[in-house]
Amino acid sequence: MTEKEVLQFRFILEQELAALDSRARGRETLEIANEADPLDVTQSAAARDFEAGNISRIAAKGRQIREAISRIHNGSYGECERCEEPIPVKRLNAVPWASYCIRCQEAVDRDHHEHDGDLEPDRAAA
Ligand SMILES: [Zn+2]
Repeated sequence: MTEKEVLQFRFILEQELAALDSRARGRETLEIANEADPLDVTQSAAARDFEAGNISRIAAKGRQIREAISRIHNGSYGECERCEEPIPVKRLNAVPWASYCIRCQEAVDRDHHEHDGDLEPDRAAA
């Protein structure tokens, strides 16, 4: 990967992170507005459950983006964390915070599935 490409990905990742932060802030405001209306208790409880799921997904994505940015700083960005092969730029264009090549991502997803069936946000975006 060229230095120019790395800079482009860093820019994309920083934009993504800023967008996530502003979405998280928007949600807090929305939740306070919901609490203020007692007629909406049932609906807002369901909405909160839904939001809680979203917030944990947003937090997971934020963590992945921060990790990708730190990999840019230490020079390991674009390298698979499992097999250490370069991650194809095409995959990084789709998932700029990817830390595994597709083959390893699939293996990791399978492991996750066997252990707790947790969803892998990286996979959903790819
Ligand atoms: Zn790999």
